[in-house]
Amino acid sequence: MKSAENDSVLTSDFDLIKKSLLMQKSDILNKHKEFKSLQTASAKAADEADAVVQNLQDNLNIQLHERDRHSLILIDKALSKFSEGSYGKCEACEEMISLRRLQARPLATLCIACMEENESANSSAGRNILQ
Ligand SMILES: [Zn+2]
Repeated sequence: MKSAENDSVLTSDFDLIKKSLLMQKSDILNKHKEFKSLQTASAKAADEADAVVQNLQDNLNIQLHERDRHSLILIDKALSKFSEGSYGKCEACEEMISLRRLQARPLATLCIACMEENESANSSAGRNILQ
């Protein structure tokens, strides 16, 4: 009985994470829609004098958009893991990532141990010959 209770707690915690990911996704998609209509409107209004300012703003928007697209990919990846039932599993060692870590970083794909190993491998990559 006790383990069934724990399971249902875990499921609802995962549900919350999934819901927040879906919300993040719709936020980004809505923002993207606004951004598009904004861009069309400003393109019509733009004249020569505004061109430089406009360019700066466009660059900023494109950068934001790139980051959003990257986030969308990660969110979709996490959501497809939910449907496969593999969400929360470390991609390196296949242990379950701790719930606290997932709540703080819902897009995490590595457990803390593997992440630290990964980071120390990266930081000493200059000295290590891995290939
Ligand atoms: Zn791991």
